Amino acid sequence: NENKSSNFIRNIIVNDLESKKHDTIITRFPPEPNGYLHIGHAKSICLNFGLAEEFNGNVNLRFDDTNPVKEDVEYVNSIKEDVKWLGFDWTNLYFASNYFDEMYERAVLLIKKGKAYVCDLNAEQMREYRGSLTEPGKESPYRNRTVEENLDLFERMKNGEFKDGEKVLRAKIDMSSPNINLRDPAIYRISHSHHHNTGDKWCIYPMYAFAHPLEDAIEGITHSLCSLEFEDQRPLYDWVVAECEMPKVPRQIEFARLNLTNTVMSKRKLKQLVDEGVTDGWDDPRMPTIAGLRRRGYTPEAIRNFCNEIGVAKADSTVDSQMLDYFVREDLQPKAPLAMGVLKPLKLVITNYPEGQVEMLEIENNAKDETKGKRLVPFSREIYIEQEDFMIEPVKKYFRLFPGNEVRLKGAYFVKCNDFITDEEGNVTEIHCTYDPETKSGSGFTGRKVKATIHWVDAASCVPCEFRLFEPLILDDAPENEGKHFLEQINPNSLEIVQGLVEKTAIENAKPQDKFQFVRHGFFNVDDKYTTEDKLVFNRIVPLKSSFKP
Ligand code: ATP
Ligand code: MG
Ligand code: MG
Repeated sequence: NENKSSNFIRNIIVNDLESKKHDTIITRFPPEPNGYLHIGHAKSICLNFGLAEEFNGNVNLRFDDTNPVKEDVEYVNSIKEDVKWLGFDWTNLYFASNYFDEMYERAVLLIKKGKAYVCDLNAEQMREYRGSLTEPGKESPYRNRTVEENLDLFERMKNGEFKDGEKVLRAKIDMSSPNINLRDPAIYRISHSHHHNTGDKWCIYPMYAFAHPLEDAIEGITHSLCSLEFEDQRPLYDWVVAECEMPKVPRQIEFARLNLTNTVMSKRKLKQLVDEGVTDGWDDPRMPTIAGLRRRGYTPEAIRNFCNEIGVAKADSTVDSQMLDYFVREDLQPKAPLAMGVLKPLKLVITNYPEGQVEMLEIENNAKDETKGKRLVPFSREIYIEQEDFMIEPVKKYFRLFPGNEVRLKGAYFVKCNDFITDEEGNVTEIHCTYDPETKSGSGFTGRKVKATIHWVDAASCVPCEFRLFEPLILDDAPENEGKHFLEQINPNSLEIVQGLVEKTAIENAKPQDKFQFVRHGFFNVDDKYTTEDKLVFNRIVPLKSSFKP
């Protein structure tokens, strides 16, 4: 049972089923196709699809494409792909634009009932007349047009007789309502623009606040889950459904949006990051988009478990992005095979190891699970270790290699450093060690102890590859709340590219999206954009450790 967290929405549904208000539930996920989905959408997807699954109901994927100018088929396709990748399937796929005829008919019905009128005030005048929280609104001079006049004008709006912005259709509700949304909101506007689905059939388009409740009602949605900012719109939502005489009455329920630390979470802002070239696309591994998380190496299971854990509440909050990292580690620990990779290589020569000799060492594939078995890793006279595993003069508590010190090479032998070579600038280019054949891993040697084990790759057989290491894209902890512009807070070090080496055996048949745990460095995913036949590119998903525990 995926949707384990008992939340207030779930309780409403349970009540509605028990009281027989509904025999079955229908939910929907209604993205506007104006960008790629992000982790915030995943919360909504998990909720809507999860509840439908749990209660054997239906769930519609509905493209909310009532705004003609910003939409794109690329987005439609990416949204379908992302929902499926998360592990969900919809009962029906709908486009809100297919309801334009019915929406128009419902608007005509409102006019006939004296509940809507054509208004000639321009946008600025409308704002003035609307009043404020402390001041009641003023009625439009066009508010008392006759039904006949309104029907005629609305039809002429539809026929293209007026320019954009010249007239709007407004609901006739209450200009003195304490809820500003009820002060005669616009429900249809003129926009002479081409629509991806309906072409040039329409030059008037319904406003979101009118369209959305109708879409829900037309589809027979029982529980329409939306984010908190729509709470004040709920009276208007209910008004539209009732006054348009929709036979099925959906119920709007609001929940808090997901915000994550160190990121922005709005398609508009994410699009800016793409358009300004801050990232290499919507699927850049640093993006909080589903496509970005996928390319980075996050798994659907980790994202779903995360969404389940954060639960659903009625108050906005910001979740630490480390929590998402915790869930991907949990998911990958048993799945991703262990391998040795060296990010910043330093050559180590074992001077007493016979030249030309190669032996195969058995090394476990998962440190915590013996059933994952072992692999054979070649070992010979020259190997590479991490630059940071050697110091000429060790600092306090440094137990790795330095002249005179002995360490274990993981799965191999003890080696002792005797000498090192530097270049003209004093950088260490090579270190010389001797090994002790008695100390082979697994031999039961107990003669003496070392305080560190370091990883390595065999110089003759290792494979060069690229590692991409990430930091958060946005520097501030809560950029959206600070009043600063997020584009001024881009982390200049969010991407570090290093050329390293990996052991051959472990990655022999690696293909894009395969995941590995590189000893000490964390979990990595084979990048599906930059990996070629000749070169593997690894994205670091997460390092091994974090301070966070849920
Ligand atoms: P954005 O500001 O990113 O464009 P949106 O709400 O305009 O977000 P829609 O395409 O309308 O995006 O979203 C589809 C559904 O996803 C809506 O029901 C919306 O409430 C939900 N949703 C969007 N962002 C979040 C979020 N951060 N947390 C939870 N649900 C979200
Ligand atoms: Mg929206
Ligand atoms: Mg939006």
